[in-house]
Amino acid sequence: MTVYDLTLAELRAKLDKREISAVEVTKTYLDRIAATNPALNTFITICNETALAEAQAADQAIAAGKAQALTGLPIAAKDIFNTAGLRTTCASRILDNYVSPYDATAIARIKEQKAVIVGKLNMDEFAMGSSNENSAFGPARNPWNQDLVPGGSSGGSAASVAARQAVASLGTDTGGSIRQPAAHCSVVGLKPTYGRVSRYGVIAYASSLDQVGPVTRDVRDCALMLQAIAGYDPADSTSVNTPVADYQSNLTGDLKGLKIGLPKEYFVEGLDDDVRKAVELAADKYRELGAEIIEVSLPHTSYAVACYYLIATAEASSNLARYDGVRYGLRAENTENLVDMYMQTRAAGFGSEVKRRIMLGTYALSSGYYDAYYLKAQKVRTLIRQDFLNAFESVDALLTPVAPTPAFALGEKVNDPLQMYLSDIYTIPVNLAGTCAMSLPCGFSTDERPIGLQLIGKPFDEATLLRTAHAYEQATDWHKKQANI
Ligand code: GLN
Repeated sequence: MTVYDLTLAELRAKLDKREISAVEVTKTYLDRIAATNPALNTFITICNETALAEAQAADQAIAAGKAQALTGLPIAAKDIFNTAGLRTTCASRILDNYVSPYDATAIARIKEQKAVIVGKLNMDEFAMGSSNENSAFGPARNPWNQDLVPGGSSGGSAASVAARQAVASLGTDTGGSIRQPAAHCSVVGLKPTYGRVSRYGVIAYASSLDQVGPVTRDVRDCALMLQAIAGYDPADSTSVNTPVADYQSNLTGDLKGLKIGLPKEYFVEGLDDDVRKAVELAADKYRELGAEIIEVSLPHTSYAVACYYLIATAEASSNLARYDGVRYGLRAENTENLVDMYMQTRAAGFGSEVKRRIMLGTYALSSGYYDAYYLKAQKVRTLIRQDFLNAFESVDALLTPVAPTPAFALGEKVNDPLQMYLSDIYTIPVNLAGTCAMSLPCGFSTDERPIGLQLIGKPFDEATLLRTAHAYEQATDWHKKQANI
């Protein structure tokens, strides 16, 4: 066992017993990042100097008996989180050299605990994508097999944890961007309920769907990370002022009386055989552990992809209007007038998927089409949310696949946006409904690609979600398998 093989909770114990220092841990991780990043391209920015300074401060806090859960632990963040004094690119040319004057709340909260930020992670540009191939900094690669995508858009967040370049990471999930890469890289990823974690300082993609969450090696670490970032923030009016549970003490392993629903619309044509088998075996395991498995129906599932790609693109077109060359990042030179400057800046600064979505969203919002597309999609969204609320009348959680297939090859879908969008079918409805869900390792395909299991919880019931995930994890070994890198 080397230092970078330990979980967050295990490292915490070693740091507290002074068996190792935060500086030693950080150096080990920075060396590992230096050795593996050329192959994986998971980091856009590596924080060699600031990380060591933060580690020294963490060691002082530990020596003074002031250690908290994350003190001295090397954590990396998707490059969508504003970080004071560090570059934040959102994997876009348009923000190539943007340095934010302030920290996102999620970053501020882990910094308050004196976590060590080791770097900013690769992603799809503006979080638009499912493969990390839409990055202006080149694709990140899957540590299990470098010919495969790590998933997206938080590809770097999942791949870095799977490759043990960080003990945990932060990602965002608008339509699956934490859960799908977590599944493809065999790590744990949680999308909290909309409003559970502040979005302040997170570069906006689709504001009614975006949510911040952790990626970790196991469920306990996930609980620790969520504990640190969850809770009301006056700076984000959509964050909700309800109490945050004690997630760790909820990990009891007890599933007695728990009812888990299998939505029948999620086990239909198009679902890969290996994924289906792995998820069915997971359902059997839950039965063995004492849970009751019930078939349920989410009847509006087939409308979710279309609904999402209207709402998300509409919101994106409006959010991305601010990148005009005046206030942030890139500005085209030698332009003739203001409009020409806007046009040239945006033409040069955005990648093709981002442009596609701005055009789609602008169209959906334009007068004459607003009612037919955007308003209709909002109504469908309400029906989808209602499907989940109805299901939760009879079950405590839902069990589904995360993605219809294991990770695909780099380049395989990049020229077929519709195929790429369709692969979000199992994750998107959760964001539309605004509830919480997580992805955890549940097996491998016959050709050794990781498979993830999705658990979907009731709104603001992350505690039950984590307890359900933890019980399965304790009864299986999937989370212990490590990518050979
Ligand atoms: N793959 C989805 C999209 O491209 C989800 C992305 C996300 O959750 N940020 O929009």
